[in-house]
Amino acid sequence: MTAVRRVLLPAPRSFCAGVERAIEIVERLLEQHGPPVYVRNQIVHNTHVVADLESRGAVFIAELDEVPEHAVVVFSAHGVAPAVEREAAERGLDAVDATCPLVAKVHAEAKRAADAGDTVILIGHEGHEEVVGTLGVAPERTVLVESAAAVPALEVDDAAKVTYLSQTTLSVTEVEQIAGALKDRFPNIKGQGAEDICYATSNRQAAVAAVVAEADLVLVVGSANSSNSNRLVELAAEAGVAAHLIEDAGQIEPAWIEGARTIAVTAGASAPPALVDEVVAAIGATGPVEVVERPVTEETQEFLLPQRLRSDDRRRLGSAGARDE
Ligand code: SF4
Repeated sequence: MTAVRRVLLPAPRSFCAGVERAIEIVERLLEQHGPPVYVRNQIVHNTHVVADLESRGAVFIAELDEVPEHAVVVFSAHGVAPAVEREAAERGLDAVDATCPLVAKVHAEAKRAADAGDTVILIGHEGHEEVVGTLGVAPERTVLVESAAAVPALEVDDAAKVTYLSQTTLSVTEVEQIAGALKDRFPNIKGQGAEDICYATSNRQAAVAAVVAEADLVLVVGSANSSNSNRLVELAAEAGVAAHLIEDAGQIEPAWIEGARTIAVTAGASAPPALVDEVVAAIGATGPVEVVERPVTEETQEFLLPQRLRSDDRRRLGSAGARDE
């Protein structure tokens, strides 16, 4: 008789309030205006979400010069530099901002610090769209740091006037390490540890951390360019557990699950919940499974849509009760 496998489902997992809001913005614009609705960069870092919206008339572009005059263009959840907003205005585009409010908060902090004359040290990964946008808030006054090892080489105008911020989707542990190195080098530095890491990123990391010791294998549903998804894989791997990032159930290698008695399945904040269900079903197709939810917290974060897209009921998005988290 085949032994029963346990499938642990750490929660929260999958969509966050910022991702739901960004997707809803594109959906409502498609309803209101009809296709095409242009979207600068991937609305969120998930190939399934992008393909679905594309099939309904969204057109994803890299630069605004690909958008016809006066057309509707959406800025993605990762945010844009002010220069991009200016370019859209100059070209007369109908821009709708789907930047996650928690990314916008980091932009506001960067502006406030730079306006006060501080050098802003941004902890983040070079080239990530969110980092490109945040660096663009005060490009003359912001430097990027990617690791604690890089802190000694940082150049700032005045070591007494420094503020640090971070990308919202990093590893809590790593940001705390880098923040510690920054405080050692700049005793007067302003900043709030890992506070810029968003609730969704830190909750998903805490949920995986709570089950990883029991798991023989961790599967993280998410796209290769999803920062918070990659951090979940790293967290499991650092705990010594085999971990894989998969787009969907089709990427599961039979050899991974063959000897695994307990498998944890989670998803990054940009991955649709249905993909997790499909992964669980695929594991179930290999033999009997016991599926166990493992919540560490309940998410209640909600974000309003931009004013022009709110319906009369002023519906809020991202409520854990209303949506499948
Ligand atoms: S992962 Fe965090 S910062 Fe990114 S959209 Fe979700 S809530 Fe916002």
